Amino acid sequence: MLKPITRKMTDESKDGVYAYTFYCDICGKPWRSEPYYTASPDEIDPLVRESERVAAYERANREALNWLSRCPVCKQVVCDQCFDILDDNDMCAQCAAKEQSRSDDKGSDSEGRGC
Ligand SMILES: [Zn+2]
Ligand SMILES: [Zn+2]
Repeated sequence: MLKPITRKMTDESKDGVYAYTFYCDICGKPWRSEPYYTASPDEIDPLVRESERVAAYERANREALNWLSRCPVCKQVVCDQCFDILDDNDMCAQCAAKEQSRSDDKGSDSEGRGC
């Protein structure tokens, strides 16, 4: 089973319904996946159940990435409120704050573009 995209994820699946909640890595705001209903409610083969569960889980991870953003710097997966879209760099609020304090330190010559 692949790792959840966020550090914290809860599995709320119950018989025949698969649902997962992912939490923003910074503020913990939950995002709940659409429940995924089994195609075969009478199926009792645990292997079929398991593969359905894995498919639903992978789908939930993909969907979560439509709502959450992965910071390219620290790789945390965060909600919109914790993600800053900057002109040249998108990053999470934590990295943006770090970046901000770094550029405050050394003034504005951080382009380093040499020619
Ligand atoms: Zn957040
Ligand atoms: Zn970050």
